Amino acid sequence: MNTPVPSLGNPQSTIEVLNKYQFVFQKKFGQNFLIDPHVLDKIIRSAGITKEDFVIEIGPGIGTMTQYLAAAAREVTAIEIDKALIPVLEDTLAGYKNVTVLNEDALKVDLCRLVQEKNGGRPAKVVANLPYYITTPIIMGLFESHVPLESVTVMVQKEVADRMKTGPGSKDYGALSLAVQYYARPELAANVPPNCFMPRPKVGSAVIRLVCHEKPPVQADNEAWMFAIIRASFNQRRKTLVNGLNNAPNLKISKEAASAALEDMGLSAGIRGEALTLEQFARLSNLLGKSGDFGKERT
Ligand code: SAM
Repeated sequence: MNTPVPSLGNPQSTIEVLNKYQFVFQKKFGQNFLIDPHVLDKIIRSAGITKEDFVIEIGPGIGTMTQYLAAAAREVTAIEIDKALIPVLEDTLAGYKNVTVLNEDALKVDLCRLVQEKNGGRPAKVVANLPYYITTPIIMGLFESHVPLESVTVMVQKEVADRMKTGPGSKDYGALSLAVQYYARPELAANVPPNCFMPRPKVGSAVIRLVCHEKPPVQADNEAWMFAIIRASFNQRRKTLVNGLNNAPNLKISKEAASAALEDMGLSAGIRGEALTLEQFARLSNLLGKSGDFGKERT
């Protein structure tokens, strides 16, 4: 049987579905449904979905993007937290035999196991119009749990997309930029205005594609230790890196050790965290990991 052509993705059909189920939007779940077919096509194209792919969708809503994904992919698993949407999804996705809907909190699903079961452990693609209140935990959770992934193509707040792709020297540069760039190569796919959603969000949005690295671009002896150093460096943005590290109680890095490591790297002791590249953070963490005067955070 052929996969049906998507019927959702415009204001009229969305309103029809919402009325049929007397659906009440839940602000706490970050529900802003896509109502623009051009944006939906653009997301599917940017994600490069083919009939070979197993796709994980986080937050299918009423199933709009799920229909587009199902038409393009081999198989889709969509994870939706709001149980009021489950009967809606059973209806809107009835003709799509390659979709499974899980009524779960995406942050609690064992995605490594899911990818093992559905794709034999081969890398999957994540595609989502993310609930903005948990964008960072979702993306970091995907990366840090080492789910086998080829790419993550997501709609996020414009400002968050800017933070993900920027480098040293920008006000947007921070722990999120470094974490994302350690795991993936970010590519901006589209800017999306509020009128493409129902209800309209208060902020501008963007689709960003994160192409996962097969191997990290820098060599950190201990990833967790490097990220602890990165977080401490940006916790107090206006302090020097030496003070930021020394003030982080969990790290136990003395000012002397931090200054010596920076000197070793040819950097000034007065430098701020926002001036360091990912490569320099990796090197700094490797040097501080060897100096021996730090606490338990390292393991
Ligand atoms: N994909 C749909 C679309 O584009 O029209 C809906 C996107 S809407 C921005 C975000 C969706 O994520 C909502 O359906 C919301 O209920 C769901 N959601 C929110 N928190 C979630 C969580 N922790 N786990 C899974 N789904 C969640």
